[in-house]
Amino acid sequence: MNYDGMIYRPPSEAYSLILQVTVGCAHNHCTFCTMYKEKSFHVKPLREVEEDLKEARSYYGNRSLRIFLADGDALVLSQEKLCTILRLCRQYFPKTERITSYGTAQDILRKSKEELQELHELGLDMIYLGAESGSPEILEHIHKGVTVEEYVRAAERLRGTGIRLSVTLISGLGGQKMLEEHAVASAKLITAMKPDYLGFLTLLLEPGAPMLQEVKAGMMQLLTPAQVLEEMELFLTHVDSEGTVFRSNHASNYISLAGNLNRDIPAMLEKIQKSRERDAFKNESMRRL
Ligand code: SF4
Repeated sequence: MNYDGMIYRPPSEAYSLILQVTVGCAHNHCTFCTMYKEKSFHVKPLREVEEDLKEARSYYGNRSLRIFLADGDALVLSQEKLCTILRLCRQYFPKTERITSYGTAQDILRKSKEELQELHELGLDMIYLGAESGSPEILEHIHKGVTVEEYVRAAERLRGTGIRLSVTLISGLGGQKMLEEHAVASAKLITAMKPDYLGFLTLLLEPGAPMLQEVKAGMMQLLTPAQVLEEMELFLTHVDSEGTVFRSNHASNYISLAGNLNRDIPAMLEKIQKSRERDAFKNESMRRL
């Protein structure tokens, strides 16, 4: 496969064919993120995308596959180009199980419900949206370039199109000062969006992340593991999103939580309580992005 630079994908796409259709992230300004800082955003020529599909087909044969469209926000592509790519995926892999991609709220809002339905009919099954926080103040602080209102409208736009929505939030993103604001505002956001899936990562700053400078300068205090759990407890006691599949079992998390909202909230709160009593958190050195 003709990959340009380092490739990232959601944990749930570990066994998918990664088809790079864009390079980098069209936004690329979030202060906690280093994933695409080395890449300048561009769209891959269709010819190269098709070459990759041909190569994958000769390797995998006519297998039933999952395909993830990379990089940072493949949904930024025009409707025409996305439709062409989805048709090519089906042409080379007629038994494709599902096709997914990252997308921003603005990418979703640039498309009409009918266009999103068309993408679903051509195989697009799920969009991963990194919301990060429901706090307007935190979103502004991290240079996310999106508003809470846009997140809610994007979720509404997807509803009924057949495309599922998977949202990611980041524990500890507001630091100690914004712990309560981050938890409660994020719970309010998820209550309004009601995504199919919700995943929590825990903030882990890699060298080169602009936010790291704030931490080093003492302008932001990272959460301790106990504070991360306190924040999660607050989130879980405020959220109301019946049926959302909840996961906080990423390599960056201090403890692993999984369940269905709202049904499993009491069990997850109990697990948090026990971990705090026993001081049982993942060792810092074992955390990964
Ligand atoms: S967090 Fe997402 S939108 Fe922000 S810079 Fe990183 S890849 Fe781009």
